[in-house]
Amino acid sequence: MAYSKEDIVRMVREQDIEFIRLQFTDIFGQLKNVAITASQIEKAVNNEIMFDGSSIEGFTRINESDQYLYPDLDTFVVFPWRPQQGKVARLICDVYNPNGTPFDGDPRGVLKRVLKKAEAMGYDSFCVGPEAEFFLFQTDEEGKPTVKTNDEAGYFDLGPLDHGEGTRREICLALEEMGFEIEASHHEVAVGQHEIDFKYTDALRTADNIMTFKLAVKTLAQKNGLHATFMPKPIFGINGSGMHTNMSLFKNGKNVFYDPNGEKGLSRECYSFIAGLLHHVKGMAAVTNPLVNSYKRLVPGYEAPCYLAWSASNRSALIRIPASRGQATRVELRSPDPACNPYLELAVCLAAGLDGIEKGMTPPAEITENIFKMDAGARSAHGIEALPGTLEEAIAALREDPLILSALGEHVAESYIEGKEKEWDEYRTRVSSWEREKYIINY
Ligand code: GLN
Ligand code: MG
Ligand code: MG
Ligand code: MG
Repeated sequence: MAYSKEDIVRMVREQDIEFIRLQFTDIFGQLKNVAITASQIEKAVNNEIMFDGSSIEGFTRINESDQYLYPDLDTFVVFPWRPQQGKVARLICDVYNPNGTPFDGDPRGVLKRVLKKAEAMGYDSFCVGPEAEFFLFQTDEEGKPTVKTNDEAGYFDLGPLDHGEGTRREICLALEEMGFEIEASHHEVAVGQHEIDFKYTDALRTADNIMTFKLAVKTLAQKNGLHATFMPKPIFGINGSGMHTNMSLFKNGKNVFYDPNGEKGLSRECYSFIAGLLHHVKGMAAVTNPLVNSYKRLVPGYEAPCYLAWSASNRSALIRIPASRGQATRVELRSPDPACNPYLELAVCLAAGLDGIEKGMTPPAEITENIFKMDAGARSAHGIEALPGTLEEAIAALREDPLILSALGEHVAESYIEGKEKEWDEYRTRVSSWEREKYIINY
């Protein structure tokens, strides 16, 4: 699938397309778009569509606000959920400055920069397969989300217990029409919780796919009278939603994480990549787990990681190596949640792993016991550290990690930290219902 400008113009004409959505993502992971009509498509493919960047979170300031959208032609696809006469297509765009240079604050550009670095080290592709989980909630008469889940089902349940199967089916079929290869779709552990997995591909495409996936899930849930959320921990006391991230690096078409003669069939590069992830994972947390709420998921007891350890099989570890070897050898990072900006997430994951490789880092010993059953003493005897416990700690860890800051670039790092500090402060000063219930009578 490599489209030319002429292909795009022809498809718009021949396929009865009326609107083209030009999409990009702000630094906090919100998908944005401007719709143009078919009459403007030539302008669009010639990178001539301009917008006001000063109104986008974390983009430019008022005095330097004009920005241009450069569509990635290979992302052309028709939205199956919009009318099929006078169709709606989309193009995912890179954001450029008026002088023709890439805009530093564009998250897609951030990922591209780190991918260039991998290329310079001889890695022609960084492949990623995500496992995004989400909840389906019922809506009220006004269509607003409630906190009632759409079913009482659990892991791998099916209808009539699973009330999400019809919605998941529609999501899968729509995504297939958009070129996704869906690998699995199932009810997750928590009530009202679901997972749909699509096939891994190179990181830039995967980040684009995650954005498309979230849009499709939310749109089709709404069409079914439900509200889909990727909020990491919507309900206390049951599992939250993660986005396990499965990663591998390729050189000349070969997976470099695999070494049939290496310990556990893994190469030296694979161990160094793991070590790099562990070394930077605290600094990465503000990106991989971006919300105040993210840290309510990262607590013991709900299949989400909280301690820094790796294991070939142990699901309590932060990093797991799934059993497949050969071309499918991969490292699964289990901390990220689906509220993250996937471009920034994959950029910091790759930067961390490459740093491990460049510096020849060695990971600590594998942990095979259940870390959640260890007490603090046993953990410290094993040298096992914890992930940041709050967004505030995560921001502090990010400030202390020059490699992650430079992977984000000055513009994104600065705006991101500023936005997250504001978010933390807003939260910190609010009085919660928990506090009132706990204190109002006794004090
Ligand atoms: N929901 C769990 C998490 O928060 C993962 C559960 C699973 O996929 N095994 O990461
Ligand atoms: Mg899974
Ligand atoms: Mg899962
Ligand atoms: Mg997994």
